[in-house]
Amino acid sequence: MIEQPPAVYHEPTPIPDKENPFESMMRRFDIAAEILGLEAGLYNYLKTPAKQMIISIPIQMDDGRIEIFEGYRVIHNDILGPSKGGIRYSPDVTLDEVKALAAWMTWKCAVMNIPFGGAKGAVRCDVTKLTKIEIEKITRRYTSNLLDVFGPDRDIPAPDMNTNEQIMAWVMDTYSMHMRRTETAVVTGKPLILGGSLGRREATGRGCMIVTLGAMEKLGIRAKDAKIAVQGFGNVGSVTAQLLAEQGCKIVGISDVSGAYYNAKGIDTVKAIEYVGKNRTLAGFKGGDTISQDELLELECDVLVPAAKEEQITAANASRIRAKIISEGANGPTDASADPILQERGILVIPDILANAGGVTVSYFEWAQDRAGYFWTLDRVNRRLERMMRQSFDAVYHSAATYNTTLRIGAYVLAIDKVAKTLKIRGIYA
Ligand code: NAD
Repeated sequence: MIEQPPAVYHEPTPIPDKENPFESMMRRFDIAAEILGLEAGLYNYLKTPAKQMIISIPIQMDDGRIEIFEGYRVIHNDILGPSKGGIRYSPDVTLDEVKALAAWMTWKCAVMNIPFGGAKGAVRCDVTKLTKIEIEKITRRYTSNLLDVFGPDRDIPAPDMNTNEQIMAWVMDTYSMHMRRTETAVVTGKPLILGGSLGRREATGRGCMIVTLGAMEKLGIRAKDAKIAVQGFGNVGSVTAQLLAEQGCKIVGISDVSGAYYNAKGIDTVKAIEYVGKNRTLAGFKGGDTISQDELLELECDVLVPAAKEEQITAANASRIRAKIISEGANGPTDASADPILQERGILVIPDILANAGGVTVSYFEWAQDRAGYFWTLDRVNRRLERMMRQSFDAVYHSAATYNTTLRIGAYVLAIDKVAKTLKIRGIYA
C-alpha cells in the first residue's frame, strides 16, 4: 500500500523583510492549503510553475544600435485548460513578479470556472523611451521566440500594463504568419475588427462593479447611500467609477498618478473621463478639491476601489483605512501583512482574483467567439459576464463562510481545491 503523506506537510513560507509579489501570493496560498489539508505532493506541484522561460530579444533600434531586451513567459499550470495571461512591458519587471502574476491567473480562472490555466509574460523595457516601430519589433520578436509556447489550445496571451490592442494585433499577426493561416484565437484583447469582443474594454470595471454591489448588499448598504473612493483612473478605475455612479453611488474621491481629488457632493465621472481623454491625466481637474494620495486611500467612505497598482495597502496604512469594503480592481493592491489588520477591523475585502476577474472572463468569451467564428451582441456578453461574476461571488462568499475565513482565503480555498481535485483525477503522468 502507498503510504499517505501527513496532512501537515511544509514549513510556512518565511515572512520576508519586504514582500515580493510571489511571496505575498504564497502566504495566502499557505493559509488556504492548511485549511484544505493539502498533501505535500500536491502542495509542491501547485506552487511550482510548470514552465519559466527567459528569452533575449535583440532589436535594431531606429538609430541603428542593437539593443537586447529580456523577455519572460511563465506558465504556472495548464491543468484546467490552455494557460491564459497578459503580457506586460515594464522597466523594472522581475521573474518573481511574473511568477506571482501567473499563479494569480491560475487561481482567478479557477474561481471564475473558466477552463484555462494560468500564465503571464513580460518584457523588461520602458515604453516611454521607445518608438512605435521599436515596440512593434519587440512584440514580433517576443512572439516569434515563443511560437512553440503560444497557441489557441496551448497558451493564450492578452494585454496587461503598457500593452494594448495594437500590440495584441501584432502578436496575432506574427503568430498567423508563421502558421500560414489567420489564427485570431491565439490572443485576446484584440481590436474589434480583428476578432475582439464587444464589452472587453469595460469588462474588468463592469465585473468589479457587479461584485462591489454584491458586497454592499451583504452589508445592507444601498447604492444611493454609498460613498466610493477609487484609486487609479485608467481602464479599470474609470469604468468601475462610472458604472457605480450609474447605479446611484456617489464617487467622492478619484486619483491617478498625477494626484487625488475629493468632492463630498460626488465627482462627475463623465466629465472626469472626458478630461482624461483630452489631457491624458487628471492633472488640473477642477471637479474636486485636491487631496494627497494617502488621504484618498484613507477617506471615510463605504467602498474603496484600489485600481492602480500593487502594494498600496500595507501594514503601514491598513489601520487608517476607513472604508467598509475594499474592492480590489488592481492585481495585488493589498500586501499579505495588511490582511490580518483589515480582517481584525472588520473590513470586507473582495480579493483581486474575484474583483478584477471580469477581464479574463470576457477574454474567455472572446476566445470562444473566435473559435466558433460567431460573434455575440454586447447585451449577451454583459449578461453572461454578470451571471458568472454573481455565481463566483456567491461561491467565494459561501467558501469563506464555510471555513470561517476572509473572502480572500475563501477564494484561494475554492480555487486550489478545484485545481487540486482536477490534478488528482488526471493523475501524474510519468
Ligand atoms: P491603466 O494603465 O489603464 O491605469 C492605471 C491607473 O493608475 C492610471 O490612471 C494611473 O495614472 C494610475 N496610477 C498609477 N500609479 C498610481 C499611484 N501611485 N497612485 C494613484 N494612481 C496611480 O491600467 P489598468 O488596465 O486600469 O490596470 C490597473 C490595475 O488593474 C493593474 O493592477 C492591472 O494589473 C489590473 N487589472 C487590469 C485589467 C484590465 O483588463 N485592464 C484586468 C485585471 C486586472
